[in-house]
Amino acid sequence: MSKVLFASAKMRELRADASLPAKFKRLLNQYPLKEMFEGKTVAIKMHLGGHLGYTTISPVFVRILVQQVKDAGGKPFITDGTYAVPTAKDRGYTEEVLGAPIVPAAGLKEGYYKTIPVDYLSLKDVQICGEIANADAMIVYSHGKGHGHCGWGGAIKNIAMGNVTCKSRGGIHALMDTEFKWDAELCTHCYLCHDNCPANAIKFEKDNTLFIDTHSCRYCMHCATACPQNAIEINDAGMRQFQTGMAKVTKVCLDLFEKDRVLFINHVTSVTPFCDCWGFSSPAIVPDVGILAGTDIVAVEQASIDMIKTEDFIQGSLPHPLYVRDVEGHLLQKIHGKDPYLQCEEAAKAGLGSQEYNLEEIP
Ligand code: SF4
Ligand code: SF4
Repeated sequence: MSKVLFASAKMRELRADASLPAKFKRLLNQYPLKEMFEGKTVAIKMHLGGHLGYTTISPVFVRILVQQVKDAGGKPFITDGTYAVPTAKDRGYTEEVLGAPIVPAAGLKEGYYKTIPVDYLSLKDVQICGEIANADAMIVYSHGKGHGHCGWGGAIKNIAMGNVTCKSRGGIHALMDTEFKWDAELCTHCYLCHDNCPANAIKFEKDNTLFIDTHSCRYCMHCATACPQNAIEINDAGMRQFQTGMAKVTKVCLDLFEKDRVLFINHVTSVTPFCDCWGFSSPAIVPDVGILAGTDIVAVEQASIDMIKTEDFIQGSLPHPLYVRDVEGHLLQKIHGKDPYLQCEEAAKAGLGSQEYNLEEIP
């Protein structure tokens, strides 16, 4: 059984000391940060979001984390994909505020990476971002939320999708062996698919036929999720292959570090149905849960998903066309049709940790 520390967002008293940032400080004090990080470069891997998103991890918490790593003698830097760093300041992330530099993980032109073999189906190798590969230690600092592609987006997704180049991200998505189908009869030509495509891969021909440029497509599935008519269909038979690929890439990345130099922290707050890469935020679908942390990525992910409960769903929080389907399974499965636990199962199979955990609450 792995230990997972939990700082609840619920306040038992009206004192700053009973609030989540204060509990976060106490949670971090439970770890031997000096042993883990003294004299080491520490990559704090975040998802800094995009455009008008406002539900990524608040700079208040990032600053606390940076300060604690510095106090332990570590040399922290914040990092994310090349695409997210230039606009991070729009969402309050600056070196001045956070206390550490913000570095594009694969360099300014995505040309700084280390290629490592994976050899899983069509994914022969993966390009791990250079700033991650060269760091001595890592804190995987993730905002937990729903995800149209894999049900849950937390630490595993933060590593597998966020610590690799765009090219490798496309390679992992392609494991789904995705086929698109478009139903002209259902389509009302609202163009939400086009407007939500981050790769500009959707065009409508002169006769209003939808065309997807698979060369540019990043397989993010935003188009299918955004379509209010369900006119775009995706073959998701390769879903487990995709989750297995994410687990294998996560393993490859974590193998670059000494085992006792990686910490996983999930914020299960502002749990939106979508990933932060959409460039906007919608209301939280459940009340804030809190912060979970540990040195076993599978246990932290499993505990985080367990704490998002269908009975806590906030009515009216889902943007059209999403809704809670009347099917078995986790709340995120009812919303996205994807079992969020699949990635935990595959990560456990890959030897990354245990789905069994003990939760210890921080007072
Ligand atoms: S899957 Fe993503 S990148 Fe591909 S066409 Fe749809 S919205 Fe665009
Ligand atoms: S989002 Fe759906 S209905 Fe709207 S244009 Fe695209 S395929 Fe047609």
